Amino acid sequence: MSDGLQERINQHIHQLITEIGPRMIGTPANRSAAKYIYDQFGESDIAVKLQRFDCVTWSAEPPIIAIGEETADHHTVVNTFSPPCEVTAPMVACNSLAQLANASLVGKIVLLYGDLTKQPIAPKGHPFYMPEHHRRINELLDAKRPSAAILVSPRFVDPLPIIEDWDIVIPSVTVSAANGIWLLKNLDKNVRLTILTEHSMGQGRNVIATIPGERPERIVICAHFDTKINTPGAVDNGAAVVALLALAAELAKQPHNATIEFIAFNGEEYYGLGDTEYLRNYESTFPSIIAAINMDGIGQWTGTSTAAALAHSEAFGQTLSEVVQTYPSVIITDPWYASNHYTFFSRGVPSIAISSIGVDDIGHFVWDDIGWLDPNKIAEVVNFVIELVKRLDTKSIAWTRP
Ligand SMILES: [Zn+2]
Repeated sequence: MSDGLQERINQHIHQLITEIGPRMIGTPANRSAAKYIYDQFGESDIAVKLQRFDCVTWSAEPPIIAIGEETADHHTVVNTFSPPCEVTAPMVACNSLAQLANASLVGKIVLLYGDLTKQPIAPKGHPFYMPEHHRRINELLDAKRPSAAILVSPRFVDPLPIIEDWDIVIPSVTVSAANGIWLLKNLDKNVRLTILTEHSMGQGRNVIATIPGERPERIVICAHFDTKINTPGAVDNGAAVVALLALAAELAKQPHNATIEFIAFNGEEYYGLGDTEYLRNYESTFPSIIAAINMDGIGQWTGTSTAAALAHSEAFGQTLSEVVQTYPSVIITDPWYASNHYTFFSRGVPSIAISSIGVDDIGHFVWDDIGWLDPNKIAEVVNFVIELVKRLDTKSIAWTRP
């Protein structure tokens, strides 16, 4: 391990995850994180720039859900970007598309559960992800115009928002399954729902740094630095940003044949806004990317580091296997899609997605804090990526492509 790598990792963990904390897009902390990353690339003497774009800034108080004198327990959450409301109305419960299609909901609060809330519902404006089931739920909610919606999480406690959509005009919350039972047992009574939110336009920033090589063809190394609302985002995805900064410092020490581009993406957790902005400016340059290496969910103390290759040539896959063999605690996994590498491999750029297999239910939760991070595992990923870059440095565009 190079001198000072471990120290730098610990320092970045402290600054980015402990000091700055939750970094939801549009928030002041998100801007502080962008500034920290920008400054750190600068410290490594790497040319760095910001890509700015508009986004929504949103926050909410805990919701109040009451039936008579009784209130739901604290296992409730306002759905991200929900408008505010103060509604007292009868409830109508629906647990299938057919029930929702047949319900009359004007002046009512709709209680959605079962098949309708088994997973987060894709936002209406998502650039590429819209399963038919989700499209129908969104369409029916718009058409039926309930005063508000309460969604029952499949989780018994600690629900996560099932709707995260700034195009939805119906105020809504998600409650634990336990609160859902209480509501379903009281369908004959009026429920009072109070949602207090603040909403404004804000700005998001990607941070892009470049080490010029002897040739313009580039290796992209990326990680998203934003978090879901209210989570310190240690595993998802502070650790990978820490690795990105440590990699920049290490790779800036030696000359390279290929150009190396580092991207700290913003807005991965909401609509992939940073990716959209990056594409707007850089998509035309994708044919000159040798490979993209994305890190998301690395460094778990009780985990195993993983690597998956996508849109790659046989030779590139073989090289990844060779590098993995020199790291006995890293394994190759099947490709997975839901992170920034999607932006690259889906457009034909050979990509490697680095993550880890470890504890369940960590990403997006309030307890995703630094207690889960093993600085040695982050260093392992840093060294692993340095080795990959070494092997790719002189490879041609054609060599990595299938
Ligand atoms: Zn992530």
